[in-house]
Amino acid sequence: MSYLSYLTPTATSPWHTYLAQVDRVLPYLGSLARWSETLKRPKRALIVDVPIEMDDGSVAHFEGFRVQHNLSRGPGKGGVRYHPDVTLEEVMALSAWMTVKCAAVNLPYGGAKGGIRVDPKKLSMKELERMTRRYTSEIGIIIGPQRDIPAPDMNTNAQIMAWMMDTYSMNTGTTATGVVTGKPIHLGGSLGRVKATGRGVFVTGREAARRIGMNLDGARVAVQGMGNVGASAAELFVQAGAKLVAMQDHTGTRVNPGGFEMASTMGAITHDAGIGNVKGGELIDNEAFWDVDCDILVPAALEGQITPERARRIKARLVLEGANGPTLPEADDVLGERGVLVVPDVICNAGGVTVSYFEWVQDFSSFFWSEDEINVRLDKIMVDALKKIWDTADRHKISLRTATFAVACERILIAREERGLYP
Ligand code: NAD
Repeated sequence: MSYLSYLTPTATSPWHTYLAQVDRVLPYLGSLARWSETLKRPKRALIVDVPIEMDDGSVAHFEGFRVQHNLSRGPGKGGVRYHPDVTLEEVMALSAWMTVKCAAVNLPYGGAKGGIRVDPKKLSMKELERMTRRYTSEIGIIIGPQRDIPAPDMNTNAQIMAWMMDTYSMNTGTTATGVVTGKPIHLGGSLGRVKATGRGVFVTGREAARRIGMNLDGARVAVQGMGNVGASAAELFVQAGAKLVAMQDHTGTRVNPGGFEMASTMGAITHDAGIGNVKGGELIDNEAFWDVDCDILVPAALEGQITPERARRIKARLVLEGANGPTLPEADDVLGERGVLVVPDVICNAGGVTVSYFEWVQDFSSFFWSEDEINVRLDKIMVDALKKIWDTADRHKISLRTATFAVACERILIAREERGLYP
């Protein structure tokens, strides 16, 4: 493990988690390991000041970031997060996981990520728009359809992508639909994109369940984070016969051993109130979420949620990482020792970037596919990628996480080696 001079990571910080994951894969990279330092340093990190006029006439300054971790295999790809806890270090880790994720599903992208340290729930729509446009303008010097293509992440959505696309287009005198993905359908967005990450979580979960002999019919699912990823995955599991028995979000934790009724549950969830208006079941203490009786656990909220202590209490046989970096490295070991199978974020939640890739391809060709085509292609890419990862895990007797890193890092470092060092 090596640290950059401008960082002071703690043992639970996402960048520390990422570096520990890289160290674990080094023995499986053969002679390519000599390039491994490349994985431990972001290619480029931009910190921007985002000043905006607030509705009351005052001026507020927000801190924004865009990190391009590695561009060896193609332009940068990765979401933009609006959250009060966003830091450079977090964005670096998220950008690095994007590099690994894109390579794991063999998309022609490098990894990038962006974010603003802000609580967007405290902004009006107009303030949100001004902040988004100023941020886009500030990072405009490094993004572009062939350079780095942002997308939604926590607290960002299709409307924010539309403002980003418009701002970039105004600044460059073009209509650059390919500069962001996750756009509204009328602006070159792709059918199936909104639910793609959750669908990918479901597809990898379905395949993993089949391999460990778990029947999805009647399987009990617990989900942390009923946002874009968690709620979409939950819906698909319930459609496949599973029961949603527990959910947690920023407002609290609700359990229902008989299973929540999905249509009314989905109808009751809103962005601000979260699951606060969901009916049925009972409210429990947030910490008790980790003790809930379930077969499948889907962390789909924040990083660092599964600590070693929580890992010892988890009842599920299968953990599907919808979120990025939800499991600390020591907790990974605990889960492994207890025989809990973890499908890691870098493959489990790759459905979103895969359909983002479809969107980008459709924008360039100006030819749009049906939702069925999207879902069938997504399913095949995820199944094929997971099979290669599973074969690698079996061959080396390593976890799916280390196997995903092995498959991905080999592809990244071969590209690095073939391109050579400039000058
Ligand atoms: P979202 O904003 O739609 O939903 C986030 C959810 O997390 C909400 O339900 C929120 O209430 C919950 N949450 C926030 N703080 C919480 C806390 N302290 N405890 C419990 N729950 C909390 O975001 P999303 O797009 O669904 O992203 C969720 C995770 O999935 C993130 O880690 C993100 O990086 C990852 N991810 C998202 C995508 C995508 O396409 N949206 C793709 C890959 C990975």
